[in-house]
Amino acid sequence: MASSQELPKNYDFAEVEERWRSIWRDEDHFFDKNSKKPQFVIDTPPPYPTGNFHIGNALNWCYIDFFARYKRMKGFNVMFPQGWDCHGLPTEVKVEELNHITKNDVSREEFRRMCRELTEKNIGLMRITLRKMAFSTDWSNEYVTMQPKYYGKTQLSFLRMLASGYIYQSEHPVNYCTRCETAIAFAEVSYEDRETQLNYFDFDGVEIATTRPELLAACVAIAVHPEDKRYRELKGRTMKVPLFCHDVPVVLDEAVDPAFGSGAVMICTFGDKQDVHWWKQHNLALRKAIDRQGKMTDIAGKYKGLNTTECRAAILADMKAQDILKRQENLAQRVGTCWRCKTPIEILSERQWFVKIKPKEIADAAHQITWFPEHMLLRMENWVEQMEWDWCISRQRIFATPIPVWFCKKCGEMTVPEDKDLPVDPTQVSPKHPCKKCGSMEFAGEVDVLDTWMDSSISVLNVTGWDGSGTPPFFPAQIRPQGHDIIRTWAFYTILRSVALTGQKPWNEILVNGMVLGEDGFKMSKSRGNIIVPEEILVKYGADALRQWGAMGAATGSDIMFNWNDVVAASRFQTKMWNITKFALIQLEKEGFAPDAEITALADRWLLVRLSDTVEEVSAALEAYQFDVALKAIREFAWEVLADNYIELVKGRLYKNDASRKGACLALHTAFDALCRLLAPFTPYFAEECYSHLSPGKSVHKQPWVAFTYDDDAARMEGNLLVQVVAEVRKYKHDAGLALNAPLGKVTIYAPHTVNDEGDTGRTLNADVHWRTDAAKLDRVITDIDFNRSVVGPTFRKQAQAFMAAITALSPEQLANPPATIMLDGCETAVPENSFTPKYSYMEEGAQVDVITVGDVILTITKM
Ligand SMILES: [Zn+2]
Ligand SMILES: [Zn+2]
Repeated sequence: MASSQELPKNYDFAEVEERWRSIWRDEDHFFDKNSKKPQFVIDTPPPYPTGNFHIGNALNWCYIDFFARYKRMKGFNVMFPQGWDCHGLPTEVKVEELNHITKNDVSREEFRRMCRELTEKNIGLMRITLRKMAFSTDWSNEYVTMQPKYYGKTQLSFLRMLASGYIYQSEHPVNYCTRCETAIAFAEVSYEDRETQLNYFDFDGVEIATTRPELLAACVAIAVHPEDKRYRELKGRTMKVPLFCHDVPVVLDEAVDPAFGSGAVMICTFGDKQDVHWWKQHNLALRKAIDRQGKMTDIAGKYKGLNTTECRAAILADMKAQDILKRQENLAQRVGTCWRCKTPIEILSERQWFVKIKPKEIADAAHQITWFPEHMLLRMENWVEQMEWDWCISRQRIFATPIPVWFCKKCGEMTVPEDKDLPVDPTQVSPKHPCKKCGSMEFAGEVDVLDTWMDSSISVLNVTGWDGSGTPPFFPAQIRPQGHDIIRTWAFYTILRSVALTGQKPWNEILVNGMVLGEDGFKMSKSRGNIIVPEEILVKYGADALRQWGAMGAATGSDIMFNWNDVVAASRFQTKMWNITKFALIQLEKEGFAPDAEITALADRWLLVRLSDTVEEVSAALEAYQFDVALKAIREFAWEVLADNYIELVKGRLYKNDASRKGACLALHTAFDALCRLLAPFTPYFAEECYSHLSPGKSVHKQPWVAFTYDDDAARMEGNLLVQVVAEVRKYKHDAGLALNAPLGKVTIYAPHTVNDEGDTGRTLNADVHWRTDAAKLDRVITDIDFNRSVVGPTFRKQAQAFMAAITALSPEQLANPPATIMLDGCETAVPENSFTPKYSYMEEGAQVDVITVGDVILTITKM
């Protein structure tokens, strides 16, 4: 044991955290592929390398590190990999901003190089925060999705799914952002409420209402409800589109709402999802009026080249000029917009690549996974149920995994690379063999790239060792931790792809964390100015305090409001624990402790049984990922049981030098050792520092999880009572204006059982304490009388003294039931109500005592 004299008075988190960070070795957290221990593989979320590891990431990673460390102590072979999900639009946009260019100003290769460089730099910055936070990352299993080693696997998974029919290409309407010039998936569409205008105009004699007159050129039919009597005669007719003059058929469809507008609607390719539905249903023509840049196409005639807003204004003006615009109304509308730039999305029909969605397959797998908290499964179910379109995975961007296919320039046949040649960029290299169909050697590489989710949704396959054949060696992973905001994307896509590629669920469990809100209760955002960055907390209070906030802030899965007070409270707990540590070490150092010492004193037994209860509660909470419950139980034990009660009770005994001291030392050592281990997953630096003084040369993180059990119901009950008795007597002292250590005289405790307190109670209260099991024999006597002078004075005036003397002369029985009258100066005089109250005291064996009751326990105090 290190000399407690060396311990600094105050806990200096900055010094301690930096010191341990330099001592700990990465190898201690490596997953051992040859281990016989049960595996615990974590499918860690790969964050987007923005350069800032934000507070939401921090919360997510705290949860992961709590259970990663716990599982290691429980004897599991843990893999806590760290990935980086690099590809995507945000980095492209950042590169354009930083270099004052657009992606078209430099070659594709040069643009990619710039993106890679920025990403490398950002990853470097984020790694530093991860280390400061003391996350027990397995750096030997780090992966970076933009590196060939990783995206080669993305390409391999693409080819496997292409071969098995899960992936196909087709011309199909997709959500498209004309600003980003790329297709996007449904999960990437955000919705905004906007105000628009509903325009009523004359369409070849029928009134039509539309919010998008600019799509008139793309009109392919008019639809009415089959039962709508107003339009009976339209059946089988064609109608002429105003301004454009092409003919379109009238179709009957039950989905038309006769009550909306005039009851006749125009179908355009494509105004919304309903248009797509009708277009398929009625096998209508395709008219593309808007191109990928959001400009009007040839079929828009004189409006060609205008953007949609300009075109709308021009068409409305022309409608007015032709006197076919009848009226306009304001209309509130939910508009789908691009997740990245908020531009309203268009639905464009394009040749794209798709992944088939098989809802039942995904739902079945989702049901085989244990969800924490359970209700998050519902969100997945709801999302799966509303799936209508397949997943569009092609993007018309640059910084992404290339789609590994070529097309024969002569016959159009598709060619794919061999596994061993992956990764490939089909725009840079050619196939090694001529076209199978026509023998030509001229190919065009696919220029579209893959959706970033195609990279990240194989994270679990990557970390479990997938090589393209069958089930990976460490598959499925044990757990996927992630935020509830990406259930529809990352969780959904991962399940889809695991089932498609292995036929199995990706993980046994999924742990969903909430979002971190600002101190004002709102989502953190630059515009609100409520963003808290982890680095700021690390500098002010250290990693352990931040980690405690993460554990205690809210139940797992709930959103958590950031609160500096919680961080301060966490830091105070460390101060308190540090004081306990110093006290414990000084005591244990004096004579050491004997591991075979006998534990007989009630306080010692009580401490151990409460420790046993705590270990059980904390372990159960950690098994269920209830970090707030676990840390709360640890704090309560440390603070209330150990510091406030036990140590106060046994201080006196520890200063003695006999056998009873040995019991206290052993109990103290046991509790302190266990506390360090219980705290290890939550406050790794602090627990290590404390433990290093208790067991020099050993790391708490290499110790097994606490397995301590102590079965002693009597000790729990009687000890709780003992603690209450001491608290009550201390309160009594306080109320009597006595110092807590002032001598008190004799205290007799009438309890149901004999208690061996080894003199702890007496020393703690500085009193002569006697425990007795017989019933207290107390006499209740009247020892004084309180006269109510405001009644006695006015009533008796000069006779007041005589009245009080007469009352005082009454017998105790008469005082308890006062007579209605007394004789005063020979006259029978009425005794006024409320003129006096007898004061009672208790007598025990002839001495006056004060009495306190604690439940059914009676305490008598004979003052000195
Ligand atoms: Zn966009
Ligand atoms: Zn060919």
